[in-house]
Amino acid sequence: MTDTSRRDLFKGAAVTGLAAAAAPAFAQGQTPLADPQTRFVSTPFPEQRQKWPALQRNMRPVPDCGESSYRGSGRLAGRKALITGGDSGIGRAAVIAFSREGADVAINYYPTEEPDAQDVAKLLRAEGRKVVLIPGDLTDAKFCNDLIARANRELGGLDILVNNAAYQQSKDSIAEISFEQFDRTMKTNVYAMFHLCKAAIPLMKPGASIINTASVNSVSPEKELLDYASTKGAILIFTKALAKQLAKQGIRVNAVGPGPIWTPLQVAGGQLPGKMGEFGQDTPLGRAGQPAELAGLYVALADPSDSYTTGSFFGANGGTGAS
Ligand code: NAD
Ligand code: MG
Repeated sequence: MTDTSRRDLFKGAAVTGLAAAAAPAFAQGQTPLADPQTRFVSTPFPEQRQKWPALQRNMRPVPDCGESSYRGSGRLAGRKALITGGDSGIGRAAVIAFSREGADVAINYYPTEEPDAQDVAKLLRAEGRKVVLIPGDLTDAKFCNDLIARANRELGGLDILVNNAAYQQSKDSIAEISFEQFDRTMKTNVYAMFHLCKAAIPLMKPGASIINTASVNSVSPEKELLDYASTKGAILIFTKALAKQLAKQGIRVNAVGPGPIWTPLQVAGGQLPGKMGEFGQDTPLGRAGQPAELAGLYVALADPSDSYTTGSFFGANGGTGAS
């Protein structure tokens, strides 16, 4: 295309009202062209451990959730979204992206994660965005119901629900998995999703979207993650079955399947002691992923323009082929 014809295209676009959308896309990409092997840190992570639930702000290096890189283009303008585990990691990347795409967001997190939640709220509120913080324990069924009611009330509706919170503890053998660990993993990862979906669906209109965070473990379980992987398998099947139920209500349900991503979950017992340096190194891309690299998937699944996509599972795993 010549410069003259490009100018003509923009002129035409201006007349038809497309200039705002088309011009920035031509002028500058959302993300600069970059080699995925080296776009983020690829050296092994230093061994580290924090008491559960770990704080992202105390990790070395601090995960990248797109704080300084994600730029929105109005894809979710006016939408109301609740994201569990939105204080840190993958949930925080979704919160930042949704907010910069124009959505009002409510964030749930465990009460002791207040410093991480305040960090992300401060960032987005300084950009003029609406952020509602609702701390509370998702293993409590009553709290799950209260959370949906409160998010709906404070946001003035609910169009997007992201079930993203999870509990993960690595253990070599089933003999080391206590009943308490098994129970907590099930309640956090599966029961909470059930309670939250059940309470949210009656409030949702056609066009709404539910996004569940599954895992590569949904289809290819690590032997050290027997209980956690079982919940991730359940989340995948729950997603597909609920999508079939809700099709007639016009509500889409999809899942994202991350591979090894650098987040607080990993330093709070998610990996066996001594294994941090190996984390993500054996993927074809040769490194762990950063939460920021998943933001686009959550935005795409929340965006009503992807209206034919429901009951589907999208991976971000550095090439392992697990989803
Ligand atoms: P993360 O620690 O940042 O997020 C997990 C969040 O779960 C916490 O921030 C916390 O707010 C929430 N949570 C846990 N128990 C809770 C409870 N009882 N009440 C309220 N909130 C509670 O870690 P992350 O890796 O970003 O995890 C997000 C999702 O990604 C999880 O579903 C996890 O299973 C999934 N995932 C992560 C990886 C990875 O390598 N990091 C890989 C596959 C899937
Ligand atoms: Mg957290």
